[in-house]
Amino acid sequence: MIRLRYAPLAMTKKRSVRSTSNVSPQSAEVDLLDSEGKTQPVETGTKQSKAAPRKRMPRGLRILVWGVVLGTLLTCASFGLVAFSPASSIDQRPYLIAALFTATPTETLTPSPTLTATASPTISDTATSTITSTITFTPTVTPTETPTNTPTPLPTPDSRDRDFYIPILMYHYISVPPADADIYRNDLSVMPENFRQQMEWLQANGYETISLYDLIYALNIGWPHLPDKPIILTFDDGYQDNYDNAFPILKELGFTGTFFILTDVTDRSEPGYMTWPMLKEMSEAGLSIEVHGREHLEMVNRDESWLTYHLRGPAQTIQANLGYEPRFLAYPSGKYDNLTISVAQEEGYWGAVTTKNGTHQTKAQPYELERLRIRGDWSIDTFAAVVTDS
Ligand SMILES: [Zn+2]
Repeated sequence: MIRLRYAPLAMTKKRSVRSTSNVSPQSAEVDLLDSEGKTQPVETGTKQSKAAPRKRMPRGLRILVWGVVLGTLLTCASFGLVAFSPASSIDQRPYLIAALFTATPTETLTPSPTLTATASPTISDTATSTITSTITFTPTVTPTETPTNTPTPLPTPDSRDRDFYIPILMYHYISVPPADADIYRNDLSVMPENFRQQMEWLQANGYETISLYDLIYALNIGWPHLPDKPIILTFDDGYQDNYDNAFPILKELGFTGTFFILTDVTDRSEPGYMTWPMLKEMSEAGLSIEVHGREHLEMVNRDESWLTYHLRGPAQTIQANLGYEPRFLAYPSGKYDNLTISVAQEEGYWGAVTTKNGTHQTKAQPYELERLRIRGDWSIDTFAAVVTDS
Protein backbone atom coordinates (compact mmCIF):
# COMPACT_ATOMS: atom_id res chain seq x y z
CA MET A 1 0.00 0.00 0.00
CA ILE A 2 1.30 3.35 -0.91
CA ARG A 3 1.11 5.94 1.77
CA LEU A 4 0.39 9.38 0.53
CA ARG A 5 1.30 12.42 2.55
CA TYR A 6 1.19 16.09 1.99
CA ALA A 7 4.54 17.78 2.27
CA PRO A 8 5.06 19.69 5.50
CA LEU A 9 4.44 23.38 5.42
CA ALA A 10 8.19 24.28 5.67
CA MET A 11 9.04 22.10 2.69
CA THR A 12 6.33 23.58 0.61
CA LYS A 13 7.68 27.03 1.36
CA LYS A 14 11.23 26.06 0.38
CA ARG A 15 10.04 24.35 -2.70
CA SER A 16 7.99 27.27 -3.77
CA VAL A 17 11.04 29.51 -3.41
CA ARG A 18 13.07 27.15 -5.54
CA SER A 19 10.40 26.66 -8.07
CA THR A 20 9.99 30.39 -8.62
CA SER A 21 13.67 30.48 -9.61
CA ASN A 22 13.22 27.86 -12.31
CA VAL A 23 9.62 27.80 -13.35
CA SER A 24 7.10 30.54 -13.63
CA PRO A 25 4.24 30.34 -11.08
CA GLN A 26 1.78 29.82 -13.89
CA SER A 27 3.58 26.79 -15.31
CA ALA A 28 4.10 25.27 -11.86
CA GLU A 29 0.43 25.64 -11.23
CA VAL A 30 -0.36 23.93 -14.50
CA ASP A 31 1.94 21.01 -13.56
CA LEU A 32 -0.03 20.30 -10.47
CA LEU A 33 -3.39 20.23 -12.11
CA ASP A 34 -4.61 17.20 -13.97
CA SER A 35 -6.68 17.31 -17.06
CA GLU A 36 -9.91 17.82 -15.10
CA GLY A 37 -8.35 20.61 -13.02
CA LYS A 38 -8.27 18.49 -9.84
CA THR A 39 -5.40 18.77 -7.47
CA GLN A 40 -2.94 15.88 -7.27
CA PRO A 41 -1.49 14.68 -4.00
CA VAL A 42 2.26 14.87 -3.77
CA GLU A 43 3.81 11.45 -3.51
CA THR A 44 6.53 10.91 -0.98
CA GLY A 45 8.68 7.98 -0.09
CA THR A 46 11.07 5.78 -2.01
CA LYS A 47 9.13 5.89 -5.24
CA GLN A 48 9.85 9.61 -5.63
CA SER A 49 12.95 9.84 -7.79
CA LYS A 50 15.59 12.46 -7.21
CA ALA A 51 15.57 13.40 -10.84
CA ALA A 52 11.85 13.99 -10.94
CA PRO A 53 10.87 17.66 -10.88
CA ARG A 54 9.70 18.83 -7.50
CA LYS A 55 5.98 19.11 -7.45
CA ARG A 56 4.39 22.06 -5.68
CA MET A 57 1.37 21.40 -3.56
CA PRO A 58 -1.64 22.42 -5.58
CA ARG A 59 -2.87 25.92 -4.82
CA GLY A 60 -6.27 24.76 -3.69
CA LEU A 61 -4.64 22.40 -1.24
CA ARG A 62 -2.36 25.06 0.09
CA ILE A 63 -5.32 27.34 0.73
CA LEU A 64 -7.07 24.45 2.46
CA VAL A 65 -4.03 23.68 4.64
CA TRP A 66 -3.56 27.34 5.53
CA GLY A 67 -7.22 27.59 6.29
CA VAL A 68 -7.11 24.54 8.57
CA VAL A 69 -3.99 25.79 10.35
CA LEU A 70 -5.33 29.30 10.86
CA GLY A 71 -8.71 28.00 11.91
CA THR A 72 -7.07 25.70 14.45
CA LEU A 73 -4.98 28.55 15.82
CA LEU A 74 -7.97 30.85 16.12
CA THR A 75 -10.04 28.15 17.80
CA CYS A 76 -7.25 27.45 20.29
CA ALA A 77 -6.81 31.14 21.03
CA SER A 78 -10.48 31.77 21.66
CA PHE A 79 -10.77 28.60 23.72
CA GLY A 80 -7.79 29.77 25.77
CA LEU A 81 -9.43 33.16 26.34
CA VAL A 82 -12.62 31.58 27.56
CA ALA A 83 -10.91 28.82 29.52
CA PHE A 84 -8.60 31.14 31.43
CA SER A 85 -10.93 34.03 32.04
CA PRO A 86 -12.58 34.19 35.51
CA ALA A 87 -15.54 31.87 35.84
CA SER A 88 -17.72 34.56 37.42
CA SER A 89 -17.52 37.76 39.41
CA ILE A 90 -17.47 35.69 42.60
CA ASP A 91 -15.43 32.70 41.48
CA GLN A 92 -12.17 34.12 40.17
CA ARG A 93 -10.77 30.77 39.06
CA PRO A 94 -10.36 30.34 35.30
CA TYR A 95 -13.53 29.07 33.72
CA LEU A 96 -11.97 25.78 32.70
CA ILE A 97 -10.67 25.03 36.16
CA ALA A 98 -13.88 26.13 37.78
CA ALA A 99 -15.85 23.96 35.38
CA LEU A 100 -13.62 20.97 36.06
CA PHE A 101 -13.57 21.25 39.81
CA THR A 102 -16.99 22.68 40.60
CA ALA A 103 -19.35 19.82 40.86
CA THR A 104 -22.05 21.74 42.69
CA PRO A 105 -23.59 25.11 41.75
CA THR A 106 -21.72 28.18 42.95
CA GLU A 107 -22.35 28.69 46.62
CA THR A 108 -23.53 32.02 47.96
CA LEU A 109 -20.83 33.46 50.10
CA THR A 110 -22.11 34.47 53.52
CA PRO A 111 -20.01 36.85 55.56
CA SER A 112 -19.22 35.38 58.92
CA PRO A 113 -19.30 37.60 62.01
CA THR A 114 -15.95 38.96 63.02
CA LEU A 115 -14.72 37.64 66.25
CA THR A 116 -11.84 39.47 67.80
CA ALA A 117 -9.99 37.20 70.12
CA THR A 118 -7.43 38.67 72.41
CA ALA A 119 -5.41 36.18 74.35
CA SER A 120 -3.01 37.68 76.80
CA PRO A 121 -1.29 35.06 78.85
CA THR A 122 -0.04 36.30 82.14
CA ILE A 123 2.67 34.20 83.70
CA SER A 124 3.48 35.04 87.27
CA ASP A 125 6.63 34.23 89.17
CA THR A 126 4.87 31.66 91.24
CA ALA A 127 4.21 28.15 90.11
CA THR A 128 0.69 28.93 88.99
CA SER A 129 0.22 30.55 85.65
CA THR A 130 -2.84 32.41 84.58
CA ILE A 131 -4.00 32.69 81.03
CA THR A 132 -6.55 35.36 80.41
CA SER A 133 -8.45 35.07 77.20
CA THR A 134 -10.86 37.73 76.13
CA ILE A 135 -13.18 37.25 73.20
CA THR A 136 -14.82 40.40 72.01
CA PHE A 137 -17.75 40.18 69.67
CA THR A 138 -18.56 43.43 67.95
CA PRO A 139 -22.16 43.44 66.72
CA THR A 140 -22.98 45.48 63.67
CA VAL A 141 -25.23 48.36 64.66
CA THR A 142 -27.46 49.73 61.93
CA PRO A 143 -28.04 53.41 62.67
CA THR A 144 -31.57 54.70 62.23
CA GLU A 145 -32.06 57.88 60.27
CA THR A 146 -33.68 59.85 63.07
CA PRO A 147 -33.26 58.92 66.71
CA THR A 148 -36.96 59.21 67.50
CA ASN A 149 -38.80 57.04 69.98
CA THR A 150 -39.96 53.78 68.51
CA PRO A 151 -43.75 53.63 68.79
CA THR A 152 -44.79 51.13 71.40
CA PRO A 153 -46.24 48.16 69.56
CA LEU A 154 -49.79 47.17 70.43
CA PRO A 155 -49.59 43.73 71.96
CA THR A 156 -51.26 41.02 69.93
CA PRO A 157 -54.29 40.18 72.06
CA ASP A 158 -54.50 36.63 73.26
CA SER A 159 -57.75 34.68 73.28
CA ARG A 160 -58.65 35.35 76.89
CA ASP A 161 -61.39 37.76 77.83
CA ARG A 162 -60.30 40.10 80.56
CA ASP A 163 -61.85 42.85 82.56
CA PHE A 164 -60.81 44.86 85.57
CA TYR A 165 -62.49 47.20 87.99
CA ILE A 166 -60.02 50.04 87.95
CA PRO A 167 -60.99 53.63 88.76
CA ILE A 168 -59.98 56.16 86.13
CA LEU A 169 -60.36 59.56 87.76
CA MET A 170 -61.34 62.51 85.55
CA TYR A 171 -60.08 65.98 86.42
CA HIS A 172 -60.23 69.28 84.53
CA TYR A 173 -59.08 72.44 86.33
CA ILE A 174 -56.76 72.11 89.32
CA SER A 175 -57.10 75.68 90.61
CA VAL A 176 -59.24 78.03 92.64
CA PRO A 177 -62.04 79.10 90.29
CA PRO A 178 -62.37 82.84 89.60
CA ALA A 179 -64.90 84.77 91.63
CA ASP A 180 -67.27 85.13 88.67
CA ALA A 181 -67.11 81.44 87.73
CA ASP A 182 -70.37 79.79 86.73
CA ILE A 183 -71.59 76.50 88.17
CA TYR A 184 -69.92 74.49 85.41
CA ARG A 185 -66.53 76.02 85.98
CA ASN A 186 -66.89 75.57 89.72
CA ASP A 187 -67.93 71.96 89.24
CA LEU A 188 -64.92 71.28 86.98
CA SER A 189 -62.40 72.91 89.34
CA VAL A 190 -60.65 71.04 92.10
CA MET A 191 -58.67 73.35 94.34
CA PRO A 192 -54.97 72.57 94.62
CA GLU A 193 -55.11 71.81 98.33
CA ASN A 194 -58.03 69.43 97.77
CA PHE A 195 -56.15 67.78 94.96
CA ARG A 196 -53.13 67.29 97.20
CA GLN A 197 -55.33 65.85 99.93
CA GLN A 198 -56.86 63.39 97.46
CA MET A 199 -53.49 62.28 96.12
CA GLU A 200 -52.10 61.81 99.61
CA TRP A 201 -55.20 59.85 100.60
CA LEU A 202 -54.66 57.54 97.59
CA GLN A 203 -51.06 56.98 98.55
CA ALA A 204 -51.86 56.42 102.21
CA ASN A 205 -54.50 53.87 101.27
CA GLY A 206 -52.26 51.77 99.07
CA TYR A 207 -53.34 52.95 95.65
CA GLU A 208 -50.73 52.90 92.93
CA THR A 209 -51.06 54.89 89.74
CA ILE A 210 -50.74 53.05 86.44
CA SER A 211 -50.94 54.42 82.89
CA LEU A 212 -53.54 53.72 80.22
CA TYR A 213 -50.76 51.84 78.40
CA ASP A 214 -50.44 49.51 81.40
CA LEU A 215 -54.19 48.97 81.36
CA ILE A 216 -54.40 48.14 77.65
CA TYR A 217 -51.45 45.75 77.87
CA ALA A 218 -52.91 44.04 80.92
CA LEU A 219 -56.31 43.68 79.21
CA ASN A 220 -54.79 42.29 76.01
CA ILE A 221 -52.05 39.98 77.22
CA GLY A 222 -52.29 39.89 81.00
CA TRP A 223 -49.03 41.79 81.37
CA PRO A 224 -47.71 43.76 83.17
CA HIS A 225 -48.87 42.43 86.50
CA LEU A 226 -51.01 45.19 87.95
CA PRO A 227 -50.69 46.33 91.55
CA ASP A 228 -53.31 45.30 94.09
CA LYS A 229 -54.98 48.70 94.05
CA PRO A 230 -54.35 50.31 90.68
CA ILE A 231 -55.73 53.73 89.81
CA ILE A 232 -55.47 55.93 86.72
CA LEU A 233 -55.42 59.75 86.83
CA THR A 234 -56.64 61.72 83.79
CA PHE A 235 -56.87 65.45 83.14
CA ASP A 236 -58.95 66.85 80.25
CA ASP A 237 -58.55 70.02 78.14
CA GLY A 238 -54.89 70.86 78.85
CA TYR A 239 -55.32 73.78 81.22
CA GLN A 240 -52.20 75.50 82.39
CA ASP A 241 -53.10 74.98 86.05
CA ASN A 242 -52.43 71.29 85.46
CA TYR A 243 -48.80 72.16 84.88
CA ASP A 244 -48.70 74.75 87.69
CA ASN A 245 -50.58 72.85 90.39
CA ALA A 246 -51.02 69.16 89.58
CA PHE A 247 -47.65 68.36 88.01
CA PRO A 248 -45.55 69.27 91.11
CA ILE A 249 -47.76 67.16 93.39
CA LEU A 250 -47.63 64.15 91.04
CA LYS A 251 -43.87 64.48 90.82
CA GLU A 252 -43.53 64.74 94.56
CA LEU A 253 -45.61 61.62 95.18
CA GLY A 254 -44.15 59.66 92.27
CA PHE A 255 -47.53 59.41 90.55
CA THR A 256 -48.18 59.17 86.86
CA GLY A 257 -51.10 60.65 84.95
CA THR A 258 -52.53 61.27 81.50
CA PHE A 259 -53.27 64.73 80.08
CA PHE A 260 -55.68 65.00 77.13
CA ILE A 261 -54.89 68.13 75.15
CA LEU A 262 -56.34 70.20 72.27
CA THR A 263 -53.50 70.46 69.78
CA ASP A 264 -54.73 73.45 67.72
CA VAL A 265 -55.27 75.35 70.95
CA THR A 266 -51.75 74.44 72.04
CA ASP A 267 -50.34 75.46 68.65
CA ARG A 268 -51.94 78.90 69.04
CA SER A 269 -50.39 79.23 72.54
CA GLU A 270 -53.78 80.21 73.83
CA PRO A 271 -53.63 81.82 77.31
CA GLY A 272 -54.68 79.47 80.10
CA TYR A 273 -53.50 76.35 78.27
CA MET A 274 -50.27 74.41 78.59
CA THR A 275 -47.59 75.18 76.01
CA TRP A 276 -45.45 72.69 74.11
CA PRO A 277 -42.39 73.30 76.35
CA MET A 278 -44.52 72.59 79.45
CA LEU A 279 -45.93 69.44 77.86
CA LYS A 280 -42.45 68.37 76.83
CA GLU A 281 -41.23 68.72 80.40
CA MET A 282 -44.16 66.69 81.70
CA SER A 283 -43.70 64.03 79.05
CA GLU A 284 -40.04 63.71 79.92
CA ALA A 285 -41.04 63.34 83.58
CA GLY A 286 -43.01 60.20 82.67
CA LEU A 287 -46.52 61.65 82.27
CA SER A 288 -48.60 60.83 79.20
CA ILE A 289 -49.80 63.56 76.84
CA GLU A 290 -52.69 62.23 74.73
CA VAL A 291 -55.43 63.47 72.40
CA HIS A 292 -58.63 65.38 73.19
CA GLY A 293 -58.92 66.77 69.63
CA ARG A 294 -57.80 69.80 67.66
CA GLU A 295 -60.46 71.99 69.26
CA HIS A 296 -63.07 71.10 71.82
CA LEU A 297 -65.52 69.82 69.19
CA GLU A 298 -67.87 66.90 69.71
CA MET A 299 -66.99 63.82 67.66
CA VAL A 300 -70.52 62.53 67.21
CA ASN A 301 -72.54 62.61 63.96
CA ARG A 302 -69.45 63.47 61.93
CA ASP A 303 -68.42 61.96 58.60
CA GLU A 304 -65.30 59.90 58.15
CA SER A 305 -63.11 62.60 56.63
CA TRP A 306 -63.97 65.02 59.45
CA LEU A 307 -63.08 62.40 62.03
CA THR A 308 -59.86 61.47 60.23
CA TYR A 309 -58.81 65.12 60.14
CA HIS A 310 -59.59 65.62 63.82
CA LEU A 311 -57.98 62.38 64.99
CA ARG A 312 -54.93 62.09 62.74
CA GLY A 313 -53.90 65.74 63.02
CA PRO A 314 -53.53 65.83 66.82
CA ALA A 315 -51.62 62.54 66.80
CA GLN A 316 -49.17 63.89 64.21
CA THR A 317 -48.76 67.15 66.10
CA ILE A 318 -47.96 65.37 69.35
CA GLN A 319 -45.55 63.11 67.48
CA ALA A 320 -43.82 66.15 66.00
CA ASN A 321 -43.61 68.07 69.28
CA LEU A 322 -43.05 65.33 71.84
CA GLY A 323 -41.48 62.55 69.77
CA TYR A 324 -43.96 59.72 70.24
CA GLU A 325 -47.25 58.63 68.76
CA PRO A 326 -50.13 59.10 71.21
CA ARG A 327 -52.44 56.10 71.51
CA PHE A 328 -55.34 57.35 73.62
CA LEU A 329 -58.27 59.64 73.09
CA ALA A 330 -60.73 61.38 75.39
CA TYR A 331 -63.93 62.20 73.51
CA PRO A 332 -64.69 65.93 73.88
CA SER A 333 -67.79 66.29 76.09
CA GLY A 334 -67.82 62.49 76.16
CA LYS A 335 -69.69 62.36 72.81
CA TYR A 336 -68.94 59.61 70.28
CA ASP A 337 -70.60 57.01 68.07
CA ASN A 338 -69.59 53.82 66.23
CA LEU A 339 -67.92 55.74 63.40
CA THR A 340 -65.82 57.68 65.91
CA ILE A 341 -64.59 54.39 67.35
CA SER A 342 -63.81 52.80 63.96
CA VAL A 343 -61.90 55.84 62.69
CA ALA A 344 -60.00 56.08 65.98
CA GLN A 345 -59.05 52.44 65.59
CA GLU A 346 -57.98 52.94 61.95
CA GLU A 347 -55.88 55.92 63.00
CA GLY A 348 -53.88 53.82 65.42
CA TYR A 349 -55.53 54.66 68.72
CA TRP A 350 -55.50 51.81 71.19
CA GLY A 351 -58.27 53.05 73.43
CA ALA A 352 -60.47 55.93 74.48
CA VAL A 353 -61.93 57.22 77.70
CA THR A 354 -65.54 58.31 77.99
CA THR A 355 -67.49 60.26 80.60
CA LYS A 356 -69.58 57.20 81.36
CA ASN A 357 -69.58 56.83 85.10
CA GLY A 358 -67.97 53.61 86.25
CA THR A 359 -64.80 51.60 86.73
CA HIS A 360 -65.48 48.47 84.70
CA GLN A 361 -62.77 48.29 82.04
CA THR A 362 -63.02 45.47 79.51
CA LYS A 363 -60.84 44.01 76.82
CA ALA A 364 -63.87 43.90 74.53
CA GLN A 365 -64.47 47.64 74.70
CA PRO A 366 -61.17 49.52 74.90
CA TYR A 367 -62.74 52.57 73.19
CA GLU A 368 -65.34 52.91 75.92
CA LEU A 369 -63.32 53.04 79.10
CA GLU A 370 -65.32 54.31 82.08
CA ARG A 371 -64.31 57.15 84.38
CA LEU A 372 -65.17 58.77 87.68
CA ARG A 373 -65.76 62.50 87.50
CA ILE A 374 -64.19 64.27 90.47
CA ARG A 375 -66.35 67.22 91.43
CA GLY A 376 -65.09 70.51 92.79
CA ASP A 377 -67.24 70.57 95.89
CA TRP A 378 -66.35 67.13 97.18
CA SER A 379 -64.92 66.67 100.62
CA ILE A 380 -62.12 64.15 101.09
CA ASP A 381 -64.66 61.75 102.62
CA THR A 382 -66.84 61.91 99.55
CA PHE A 383 -63.79 61.37 97.38
CA ALA A 384 -62.70 58.39 99.48
CA ALA A 385 -66.18 56.90 99.39
CA VAL A 386 -66.49 57.21 95.61
CA VAL A 387 -63.08 55.67 94.96
CA THR A 388 -63.58 52.89 97.51
CA ASP A 389 -67.11 51.93 96.51
CA SER A 390 -66.59 51.99 92.76
ZN1 LIG B 1 -62.96 68.35 77.54
